[in-house]
Amino acid sequence: MRILVINAGSSSVKFSVFDMTTGEQCFKSEIERVSSLEDALATIPKELEKKGQGEVDAVGHRVAHGGSLFSNATLISRDVIDDIEACVPLAPLHNPPALAGIRVAQKAWPDAPQVAVFDTAFHQTIPDFAYTYAVPEEWRKVGLRRYGFHGTSHCYIMQRVAEELKTPGEKLRIISCHLGNGASVCAIRNSVSIDTSMGMTALEGLVMGTRSGDVDPGIFAYLNSKFGLSPQQVEDALYHKSGLAALSGLGNDMRDIEKKAAGGNKKANLAIEVYVYRIKKYIGAYTAAMDGVDVIAFTGGIGENSALIRSRVCAGLDFLGLDFDEDKNAKVKLTGYEAPQIQAASSKVRVLVTQTREQWMIAKDTESTTTLL
Ligand code: ADP
Repeated sequence: MRILVINAGSSSVKFSVFDMTTGEQCFKSEIERVSSLEDALATIPKELEKKGQGEVDAVGHRVAHGGSLFSNATLISRDVIDDIEACVPLAPLHNPPALAGIRVAQKAWPDAPQVAVFDTAFHQTIPDFAYTYAVPEEWRKVGLRRYGFHGTSHCYIMQRVAEELKTPGEKLRIISCHLGNGASVCAIRNSVSIDTSMGMTALEGLVMGTRSGDVDPGIFAYLNSKFGLSPQQVEDALYHKSGLAALSGLGNDMRDIEKKAAGGNKKANLAIEVYVYRIKKYIGAYTAAMDGVDVIAFTGGIGENSALIRSRVCAGLDFLGLDFDEDKNAKVKLTGYEAPQIQAASSKVRVLVTQTREQWMIAKDTESTTTLL
């Protein structure tokens, strides 16, 4: 079975073809959206045709927001499209490109089943006391609550950790740290998400490349009175002009920030301190939420590659029974899908580093959804 995975985002369109029998990724491409979304999407069938990859048995689409409507990958029908459209107000930048991708793929491959795989789905198991915001009921009725994102990645990490430790997910309390340009932490108990740091939108939680993560909502009125900023302007700045980039003044690339920090740059050092401290706070919180922790897993560009950030995050966590091994940590250099452990032999908490595989997970979800047909 050959599966095409389309990830149509707000700034780029990624697509890959997987052969599910061999597990091989036969093709992958990414189009930066310099042109219109329609133009970018229209190149998918053309490019696949040109490369002799045009025959596909099913298409999996990454959809950012499924609201409370979707807790699993779902075969796309007219009703499902209406439901994804109903979630557009929750993700105005992200769901419309996914819907456009679905339309293009339905036209190009009319006989192939299409599946929607939601970034929010894995978090639908979060209990009400953890997803409920303490706000007026009228607001909650229109969808204000925590949904969480990076669900496909956190779910993959849970499965990969269970496989690596040869222990069923049901027996593990995992804190999954996805540290990329976007970043989130997820508490996984009994192999399901019980809490995560992103909220109704992908703005809450950790400090990210250009996103602030947690801030006091009181800043909206204050910034309006100080600078006359509208809520939209504040939100835009919290998405695009904050985070590591704002703190360091060096842009959002952690490699540059680490280099300057090592040379004594104060802003770069503070950026790293704020970044690390926020992750540590979430690890503490999620350890309490799960009555303990068995595994901390690092993934995403920073989690996979930055020995410094992993070391700083794990420093001082001995009280949890975490005995970190600096040498093992420094030697990590991922080349494939291995998942090295970087704790000392005496450690009660295991610490794993591994690459996330969101496209592959979407292909797997698409396969299992379509083989039920
Ligand atoms: P996205 O969320 O866009 O998929 P990635 O998961 O690729 O992003 O992560 C991008 C981040 O990873 C960037 O901040 C980049 O600086 C960081 N990164 C990549 N390699 C390293 C490295 N060797 N050391 C520190 N940070 C790294």
